[in-house]
Amino acid sequence: MFEFEVEASDGAARAGTWHLPHGDVRTPCFMPIGTQGTVRTLSPRDLEACGATMVLANTYHLHVRPGEDVVAKLGGLHRFMGWPKPLLTDSGGFQVFSLEGRRRVSEDGVEFQSHVDGARRQLTPERAVEIQWALGADVAMAFDHVIPGPSGHEAAQDAAGRTLRWLVRCRDRFAALAREAPERQTLVPIVQGGTFDDLRRESLRGVLDAGEWRALAVGGLSVGESKPRMDEVLAGLEPVLPPRVPRYLMGVGFPGDFVAALARGMDLADCVAPTRMGRNGAAFTDDGQVNIRNARHREDDAPLDATCDCETCTTFSRGYLRHLFAAEELLGLRLLSLHNVRYLIRLAARARDAILAGTFAGWSRAWLARYGSREQA
Ligand SMILES: [Zn+2]
Repeated sequence: MFEFEVEASDGAARAGTWHLPHGDVRTPCFMPIGTQGTVRTLSPRDLEACGATMVLANTYHLHVRPGEDVVAKLGGLHRFMGWPKPLLTDSGGFQVFSLEGRRRVSEDGVEFQSHVDGARRQLTPERAVEIQWALGADVAMAFDHVIPGPSGHEAAQDAAGRTLRWLVRCRDRFAALAREAPERQTLVPIVQGGTFDDLRRESLRGVLDAGEWRALAVGGLSVGESKPRMDEVLAGLEPVLPPRVPRYLMGVGFPGDFVAALARGMDLADCVAPTRMGRNGAAFTDDGQVNIRNARHREDDAPLDATCDCETCTTFSRGYLRHLFAAEELLGLRLLSLHNVRYLIRLAARARDAILAGTFAGWSRAWLARYGSREQA
């Protein structure tokens, strides 16, 4: 359980399989985000039709509402949200640190005011692990100190150091919980260090010294730094990452960033972009983003993406989808979310095929050139 097999690599890009309690995950893998225990507007059957294998849920949100005890009483998170396949929960760190002005950070943890009922609560490394254990996802994340946007060296060093000290506390609490059910869940550490190569490597060394991990995550990227800088950080980290564990790049899921990250040896990624963009009427295609609200689609009988096999693209015209957005019909939000999630999952599958065939470098260069050139047009 929790073993990762690398089936093929092509340059730094890898194709593998991660064995998890609720099923196998083929990588590269894109994970849709179910913030409140639901991927907004999509049912588990929709996700299944999109080819999703692993879904992410947010610990902070499920903790403040309905509460992990309620989820546990109703059979655990898989049963609660009707998703029988692998699940990953974040640690809640990203959300509590985003509560600007409503949180206080100390060495012990973060005290915050719930956005739902205003109650004061505390999240510590131990609590974050306990909540995730109660939720019961296949993969739990260590509680990390998240810093805003591109921060200075000192702030990044301070946060990376605290993240490591918190990791040891997460590890110890997790070990105590997992003693009775070692095959239930695995805890994944997060490499921090902002945009500084020295801090990234220092953070990685600390993480590897702290335990034997079944996966590694890279956090704190795609938070406002330039794309070339993000690429450099990943390029600097890749040669020193252990080869036998899957690498999860957190919060990076716009198509262009996703493909670029795979070229740097990342295996999994998540992002709210497909559903958030979809609800705004923006759809991903190989020719860049399409804004379905645009007047030029008014009498367009073509599908959103002629190469896509999703329900949206095989059933409806761009003209109809534009009409749904103009009339503010809920179906429009669902259909574009569905397409975008399918697009990213298919993109991961296409990347996997290219890696297995040994053609990833050429495929990704061609894909990025086509996607990028039209995106700016
Ligand atoms: Zn589609």
